Amino acid sequence: MGLGTKGSYCENCGSILIDDAWETVNFHEDGSMTLDSFAAHVCKKQCGFYIRIQQ
Ligand SMILES: [Zn+2]
Repeated sequence: MGLGTKGSYCENCGSILIDDAWETVNFHEDGSMTLDSFAAHVCKKQCGFYIRIQQ
């Protein structure tokens, strides 16, 4: 099992990763927050694991 761009597996639960959009919310010390959306390989079981795709 190698770490390729296709056929990658979740490091948490071992499920296959699928190409999807992902977003994270970043909270800052001043109370504001920003939403960061990007393409990623996301665990099919949605356990929370993802690998961000560099663009
Ligand atoms: Zn998983």
